[in-house]
Amino acid sequence: MTFRAAVITLYPEMFPGPLGVSLAGRAREEGKWSLEAIQLRDFAADRHRTVDDTPAGGGAGMVLRVDVLARAIDHARAAASNEILPVIAMTPRGRPLTQARVRELAAGPGVIVVCGRFEGFDERIFAARGVEEVSIGDIVLSGGEPAALMLLDACIRLLPGVMGAPSSGTEESFENGLLEYPHYTRPAEWEGRTIPEVLRSGDHAKIAAWRKLQSEVDTRLRRPDLWERHEGARVQSASGARREKRDVDQ
Ligand code: SAM
Repeated sequence: MTFRAAVITLYPEMFPGPLGVSLAGRAREEGKWSLEAIQLRDFAADRHRTVDDTPAGGGAGMVLRVDVLARAIDHARAAASNEILPVIAMTPRGRPLTQARVRELAAGPGVIVVCGRFEGFDERIFAARGVEEVSIGDIVLSGGEPAALMLLDACIRLLPGVMGAPSSGTEESFENGLLEYPHYTRPAEWEGRTIPEVLRSGDHAKIAAWRKLQSEVDTRLRRPDLWERHEGARVQSASGARREKRDVDQ
């Protein structure tokens, strides 16, 4: 099955961009995913191809018009008529993108991504067309295109057959709610710095235990927010298991 990506943008020439090379580029050539970059201006109604207007209530900048956005989204949906693709607008006001959401998207038929520019979108588009708002972090980009490229890159690498070793997808940061453990490679000693002894021991159980511990320590130190969530989920599943056992015993 081909994963369909449609991107609505004022700069279609930015696509496939970095997705035209390496893993994603090869996967596209092999038909594992397809890309349609849709020019938002093609859905303007006037001869100047206007897509934006001044903000209601005043203020700086311009806002993307809801009627133009709706026509572009309807077009992208119609083009994928035999599948229902989720529509995602890239916006700093959206829900932060997670690996779990990426995994869900990659398991589906594809995605329609809408890239904002200027001050962003007329708010009415989200409810009117069931558009999910997604942010790639607490930063402000000048446009949604780099954010869309990030989202698509994260999805594409998870498509079946895109990555070499299947474990490289499942052992990575965020897959189990933790950051990944640190990596090393040859030379064994460099500028007086060595590789942890355990990684050279050949003892797979010890290596796995070391990696698990590193992963937990690094997450606790670097991302206390992730660690708290991880611990919360662990405590919850342990108390759920105890409850189930009690119910069975009674
Ligand atoms: N006025 C908006 C605000 O303060 O929330 C920022 C608009 S930004 C200059 C223009 C466009 O860049 C946005 O509509 C969005 O598509 C994209 N963008 C900027 N930062 C983003 C982020 N963190 N995540 C996803 N998209 C982003």
